Amino acid sequence: MSNLDKLPLRDDLKGRRPYGAPQLEVPIALNVNENTHRIPRAVIEDIFSRIAHATLQLNRYPDREFIKLREAFATYLGHGLTAEQIWAANGSNEILQQIVQAFGGRGRLALGFGPTYSMYSIIASGFETAYLDAPRLDRYELTPEHIRQQILEHKPNIVLLCSPNNPTGTPLSLDSVEAAYEAVSEATGGIVVVDEAYAEFAPANTPSAITLLPGRERLMVSRTMSKAFAFAGARVGYLAADASVVDALRLVRLPYHLSALTQAAAEGALAHAASMLATVDDIRVQRDRLVAELASMGLDPYRSEANFVLFAGLQDSAATWQSLLDRGILVRNVGIPGTLRVTAGTESETSQFLSSLREVLAG
Ligand SMILES: *Cc1c(COP(=O)(O)O)cnc(C)c1O
Repeated sequence: MSNLDKLPLRDDLKGRRPYGAPQLEVPIALNVNENTHRIPRAVIEDIFSRIAHATLQLNRYPDREFIKLREAFATYLGHGLTAEQIWAANGSNEILQQIVQAFGGRGRLALGFGPTYSMYSIIASGFETAYLDAPRLDRYELTPEHIRQQILEHKPNIVLLCSPNNPTGTPLSLDSVEAAYEAVSEATGGIVVVDEAYAEFAPANTPSAITLLPGRERLMVSRTMSKAFAFAGARVGYLAADASVVDALRLVRLPYHLSALTQAAAEGALAHAASMLATVDDIRVQRDRLVAELASMGLDPYRSEANFVLFAGLQDSAATWQSLLDRGILVRNVGIPGTLRVTAGTESETSQFLSSLREVLAG
């Protein structure tokens, strides 16, 4: 990076590092938890035609309230949600940013349970919000009692719960979400954000925190089209919450933040939700296969309900990461000693990862 010391940068940003998962051209990229399957041809054609249609009107600003898209998300999510309870933005990262902008700020504290999604602290620092990673229990698990105790101790204004957790894959029970909401209500009257970026990969019939929304107006659930929906490049995240939360986010969003092209693409993808999500079952199978085969190699995979697996037991994770890259396979070193994280790809990608890792470990 260039020398930032020459710039009159905000003091609290000096010395900080941007989000930086390596973006490399490789045959097999299993590093940022994308859905590695291609979008079905019929869906691509429908999206093309919707974007072509939107292009005719690009001289005009898009619908600032993107009502059609919010209605489509409400229908997709079900649970009796209406468009007033839905918000969307350019990735769920932007949703999280708008939440911290509206509910954080100087003198306020955001609390996550680390290791967790690295963007939480980066987004908090962007709005002069203090950020604390509270510890997790053995094998990165959380219990309602532990969550309650940490919240009562640190008194955060914003609690960020990643469910399932990135980078560990650990699921989170609804009891834990309820405990967080009760504790933060007692401690500060703050908010609880449940980041369900990987919710679609959980076992069938796993309830979403969306079921807890009625009567909890300071609870918000964020989702994304970047993972299960195979739509990371389109940059679409969304939120379900009380309608008053959506009104709060309107105070900080930039006008027309969702382009007409983004709205058209997202509407197209949602109109084909079932076929966009058809690969999820196969990805779950590959994830469970990763856990089983990594364990059979003598490694130590953590339980995962997401589309990736964190595994420990490596002597030198940086060296293993490089050896895999030399074989054309990119995984993620999240900085936890002795571990790497790998995305569950197609069956063939998963097989190539596993056989390359066997070669690397054999020396
Ligand atoms: C990938 C990911 C997101 C999604 O980011 P987008 O901005 O929607 O692409 C959000 N939260 C977590 C924990 C993630 O891993």
